[in-house]
Amino acid sequence: MTHNSFISNMPKIDLHCHLDGSFSPEFIRKALKLPDIDDQLITKLKAPADCSSLTQYLTCFDLPISAIQTKENIINGVLDVLSQASSENVKYMEIRFAPTCSVNENLSLTDIYEAAIAGTKLGLEKYGIYSNIILCAMRHHQPDTNLKVLESMADYVGHGICGLDIAGDESQFPNQLFQELFSKAKDMGIPFTIHSGECGSTENVKLACQYGAKRIGHGIALIHDINLMQDIRSAGIGLELCPTSNFQTRAWSDMSTYPLRDFLDYGLLGTINTDNRTVSNTNMTTELTLAKSKLNIREEDLLTIYKNSVEISFADDNIKHKLLTDGNSILLPT
Ligand SMILES: [Zn+2]
Repeated sequence: MTHNSFISNMPKIDLHCHLDGSFSPEFIRKALKLPDIDDQLITKLKAPADCSSLTQYLTCFDLPISAIQTKENIINGVLDVLSQASSENVKYMEIRFAPTCSVNENLSLTDIYEAAIAGTKLGLEKYGIYSNIILCAMRHHQPDTNLKVLESMADYVGHGICGLDIAGDESQFPNQLFQELFSKAKDMGIPFTIHSGECGSTENVKLACQYGAKRIGHGIALIHDINLMQDIRSAGIGLELCPTSNFQTRAWSDMSTYPLRDFLDYGLLGTINTDNRTVSNTNMTTELTLAKSKLNIREEDLLTIYKNSVEISFADDNIKHKLLTDGNSILLPT
């Protein structure tokens, strides 16, 4: 896809980016001490063009997770993703991952949080990009395991960690199983986003709203329920759309009816994000170019989408203010 220079140069925000789905092959090679980058490695890191489901898509995460089992690799992994993003003029991003997948005898949950935060600080120093970490509970993990993440993250929220999410197979482990987790998060004042409506379930989106989610990951099933759309608009809940990923996982198949256009027209806080840069072979420039060329997103919508991203981000007010100033450069050419 050819990128127009306006999109390449404009400031961008990526709020939905999985760390383990976004490593460069070079980072994986170094972290796992592999001799070189061969076709077999690339095949393991990228979802096939004919990927049949979210379940198949999720198999691409095994190798990357094995690459983030030390403090040093977690720091370098965060830096690797921030380096890619800064080259696309991303000004702010929220990187998410499941810390429990990196716990081992030498690495505790809090070691992992501190390493990820160290990566974000280095990213600001080296690349001038602001970032925060979202911690993911996992749908297939035991309730106690997920609660441990929530309880141990409290002291880090506002200091490099900005919120909670739940990731994994939404069709097999629906939101109704996680009421306790999110009710506790709400009581603790920890902001959260919930992957919901990626596999066609409006019920999951409804539950995410009831639990108090500030944002919905994907949420595209929402288009089938106008009453719910109204509720989400009144509550000011943000939508993190990830178009390329949604087509790959078969969450949506027809580009001409992709619901972002309708969400924006309805006044919902829709945003565009990458989900998994490597697994989906994408980046912010590619996503915005796709949106403009195929998903009925006009150039004048790009500023709205950027402002929506600032508004729904979990960044503090100082960073939000700075991002809004950066966004003034998205003034349309006359
Ligand atoms: Zn996701």
